[in-house]
Amino acid sequence: MTAPDPLADILSSLARLEPGHVWLAGAGPGGPGTLTLDTLAGLRQADVVVHDALVDRAVLDLAGPGAVLEFAGKRGGRPSAQQADISARLVALAREGRRVLRLKGGDPFVFGRGGEEMLTLAAAGIPFRVLPGVTAGLAALAVAYIPATMRGVNQAVVLATGYSAEEGEEAARWAALARSGQPLVIYMAMSRLGGIADSLIAAGLPPETPAAVVASATAPGQRVIVAPLAGIDQEAREAGIEPPAILVVGGIVPLRAEVLRLIEAHGGATA
Ligand code: SAH
Repeated sequence: MTAPDPLADILSSLARLEPGHVWLAGAGPGGPGTLTLDTLAGLRQADVVVHDALVDRAVLDLAGPGAVLEFAGKRGGRPSAQQADISARLVALAREGRRVLRLKGGDPFVFGRGGEEMLTLAAAGIPFRVLPGVTAGLAALAVAYIPATMRGVNQAVVLATGYSAEEGEEAARWAALARSGQPLVIYMAMSRLGGIADSLIAAGLPPETPAAVVASATAPGQRVIVAPLAGIDQEAREAGIEPPAILVVGGIVPLRAEVLRLIEAHGGATA
């Protein structure tokens, strides 16, 4: 008699990825630890995995031995494949009768163009599912000991992008975010960190507003730096912080220093 394996039971009870179907799935922000079981089931069943640049090699290695890995993504904000081409490729693969896993970093619907791909699949009559993933912004907060919400500190948290294709509206956009009075979790902020900090300060946030940058959250090379908003750009430069990284601004950031003090005083494990 073989020993019971509840994990194998769960994996085999999850939905079947059928030929001609597409699963639009999140891989989480980095290391395989944040992968969901649904996405793992998709990796195990897919004939083709169409992935973007932020999906970790260790995650791709979980694909079945016969699976073809196709890179289709953007690097450093520059499109290395046009979005329309990626969506068309998904439709073509499904029409060939392949089992397609479209795998994106984090969550497919958070700054991941997953919405556009879903609309294309739906318009082409391709059967699809959307599988959520752990989004980088929330993962970055967790690994940095910064609660996304904290009683007495905030009632909302804003997920924003530091990069907008719509030029001209920048100042108004940052002003509206600054006025919300709620913590900001900003994706794709690294290439214009100084400009974002300046815009938020110009819009009324005090220069000493606590800020943090969390790079490569959950992945090897994870780093966290903390500084007042006015100094965060210089601090990140001096520390040699590299993308991918999340900028966090607001009253939740100091909880990190508080918990680190407590850990040090009481010897709690941090690894
Ligand atoms: N769909 C993804 C976000 C894609 S946009 C998600 O839900 O997480 C790409 C941006 O995500 C990067 O510029 C960076 O700001 C952030 N990001 C992705 N992985 C990250 C990581 N491991 N650590 C910190 N930020 C990350």
